[in-house]
Amino acid sequence: MTATSVRRVFNFGAGPATLPAEVLEQAREGLLDWGGRGLSVMEMSHRSKEYEAIHGEALASLRRLLAVPEGFVVLLLQGGASLQFAMVPMNLLGPAGAASAASAASGASAAGAASADYLLTGSWSKKALADARRVGAARVAASTEDEGFARLPRPEEIDLDPGAAYAHVTSNNTIVGTQWRELPDAGVVPLAIDASSDVLARPVPWERVGVLYAGAQKNLGPAGVTLVVVRENLTARAPEDLPAMLDYRRHAAANSLYNTPPCWSIYVLGLCCRWVEERGGVAAMERAAEERAAILYEVLDRGGFYRGTAEPASRSRMNVTFRLPSEELERRLLEEAAAAGMIGLEGHRSVGGLRASLYNAMPRESVEALVALLRDFERRYG
Ligand SMILES: *Cc1c(COP(=O)(O)O)cnc(C)c1O
Repeated sequence: MTATSVRRVFNFGAGPATLPAEVLEQAREGLLDWGGRGLSVMEMSHRSKEYEAIHGEALASLRRLLAVPEGFVVLLLQGGASLQFAMVPMNLLGPAGAASAASAASGASAAGAASADYLLTGSWSKKALADARRVGAARVAASTEDEGFARLPRPEEIDLDPGAAYAHVTSNNTIVGTQWRELPDAGVVPLAIDASSDVLARPVPWERVGVLYAGAQKNLGPAGVTLVVVRENLTARAPEDLPAMLDYRRHAAANSLYNTPPCWSIYVLGLCCRWVEERGGVAAMERAAEERAAILYEVLDRGGFYRGTAEPASRSRMNVTFRLPSEELERRLLEEAAAAGMIGLEGHRSVGGLRASLYNAMPRESVEALVALLRDFERRYG
């Protein structure tokens, strides 16, 4: 049976999200009999040569795709992006009362306790801040919460502490549909980037980055594995008594094999990375994302029937959020979409409305099908 004989829906879900059909076909081999070894990837010892090859190739492919420079370590962890909300401050905030590396370099607030800056641009960044405050000191460097996070802070609204241990930013706000086109420049302060929903769809300005993390299930592969790329010299800030599983140094020293990794998720992530590499890498993914989003925003902007919820200059290419004139019409559109094989278009339960998530694996034809439905629906109800 080939993928063409399987009915596949148009899946606009925000995550876990659609995966390339070609990858799922390859994964079928790994499911039953990997490389003629007579066993599934799920049944392999994580200390076997076979699994080590899978593991090493996934890490190497991520490093190539993201152009990760020397001095950074690439980790594959568990616990989702949500665990990184705690691990980032646990590892990088440094002990309370100690000056951070950045403050030492800049001479600012040298005697103060280490503190981190957070840019609040949606509910994920709020959760990240809440966990940071459970670990140590964290301050809000900018927030657009008053405006329902419908836009990103403008440069002049961002008040960064030059002595901060790091500045945390959510590169793409999955729920409200905004995305930093240019990540903020925090000078000597390293950025901590939650890139869960746009990793591998944009280049990373590594010279400004301290750590970048992403749950895999949006733009990297299946759920169960989390990418962390961290500047190695910053990991020295972590307290010596940090529990092993929470310590970047332990995972780095063990090449992300400190304990049993999510072998199957990493295998499929590796297949997804190869799929991206074969299609031209991050630059090609970024161009495709731009095109997909443009054809959808074009329909939303035309008539006054649909209304994009994010301010145009802050719009995301990955999650397109919009409303109809009434909730009744929104329900009807969702029903018609489902009948036409398009699922996952409901907005996040915290904001309502509609959301089309357009990650790397989203074929352009799916967006074209959605656009055709939106045009037709507007003709009938507009
Ligand atoms: C989905 C998401 C998260 C949460 O990811 P988990 O892997 O479920 O913990 C965090 N940040 C952003 C930006 C997200 O989109």
